[in-house]
Amino acid sequence: MSPRGWAVLTLAGLVVALVVVGALLIPWSRPPAPRADQLAALRALPVDQVARGRAFHAALRPGGYASLAVGLLIALALGLTPLGSRLVELAGRPFGGHWVAQAVLGGLAVLLLVDLLTLPLAAWRHTVLARYGLSTQGWGGWAVDLVKSYAVTAVIGALVLLGFYSVVRLAPRWWWAFGAAGAAGLVVLLSFVLPVLVEPVFNRFTPMEPGPLRTELMSMAARDGVPVRDVLVADASRRTRAVNAYVSGLGPTRRVVVYDTLLREATPEEVTSVVAHELGHAKDRDVWVGTLVGALGAAAAVAALYLIGSWPPLLRLAGVDSIAQPRAFPLLIALITVAGLVATPAQALMSRRVEARADAHALALTGDPATFEAMQRRLAGVNLADPDPPRWEYLWSASHPSTVERMAAARAYAREIGR
Ligand SMILES: [Zn+2]
Repeated sequence: MSPRGWAVLTLAGLVVALVVVGALLIPWSRPPAPRADQLAALRALPVDQVARGRAFHAALRPGGYASLAVGLLIALALGLTPLGSRLVELAGRPFGGHWVAQAVLGGLAVLLLVDLLTLPLAAWRHTVLARYGLSTQGWGGWAVDLVKSYAVTAVIGALVLLGFYSVVRLAPRWWWAFGAAGAAGLVVLLSFVLPVLVEPVFNRFTPMEPGPLRTELMSMAARDGVPVRDVLVADASRRTRAVNAYVSGLGPTRRVVVYDTLLREATPEEVTSVVAHELGHAKDRDVWVGTLVGALGAAAAVAALYLIGSWPPLLRLAGVDSIAQPRAFPLLIALITVAGLVATPAQALMSRRVEARADAHALALTGDPATFEAMQRRLAGVNLADPDPPRWEYLWSASHPSTVERMAAARAYAREIGR
């Protein structure tokens, strides 16, 4: 069988694996709380809080969607015309068109151009966050963050570009197979190292101070059967007033992180409720599930790019002979951008299901639906959430159940246990 035949077979196998993993590991069976409960929860929220959250999101929306559209248009303009391949050639010219220069400098130039052209919209977003008092950063801090994120992208991007185009040269017929395995491996590696290598670039993490709250959190984790070495506090207040918590990392790099803003804004009982939700993620191995889905998706994407990328009309549009050339990198980016947009609603749906399971875990672990609901109310208030966002936007991109869904889930649980 030809490499092409194997690629079709591999892609089919990966898609089947994705469907099986998605079906078995994502908690599909839990339906959202009844809409009547959600509407009752919405009525329980202060009218001015709801109005402010909606106004904030209405203010963010035009720039957010414009940024998506501009990013897509630039990717298509570079990838589906010879413009992008010329840019890659230009970047390699000072080095005699050497493939390493084309691959790394050309690749980074394409990535940087997309970022730079959407930069005005990112700046505009910052003005909205500042106007609503959510951002605590001046332009200096904002610019420093921007430069740091460019630097992280440049380092990871350069390594990936160099690795990928080296494989292409070493295995001109089978690069897609090594590329698929490499992409899956990279997703797993990043899950391990992001919390220890990249997160500290943006925030300082310190172990939570000893005290009654820390003691309560550690004993709750022990009761839950989730070994936690420490709860880390991130200095999120350096850029935002928003409150949050998360788990990241795998195995030895796994950590539960709470924002310092959460400790400042919320009661100890509410912090406990938030951490109980995060313990749910740890207990159900949600980072592993996300990593596995991501790894399979990345491998499938490489096989699919190889197959789509050998379609002559597409190559003609981009002015290249093969998808495997550095000059075809803009075409790859265009295809990846489109695939990312198509995958967004599916990723959001899976994420919402996993988040709803972590909520159920928090309710069962704390047995305290009243505090859970109060915490949701506080989260929405401080973070200027739209508690009941427009349906289309929710389906398109919401990574968490809405505030009213989460409050209604707490009410349903309270009924269940007779409180
Ligand atoms: Zn969560």
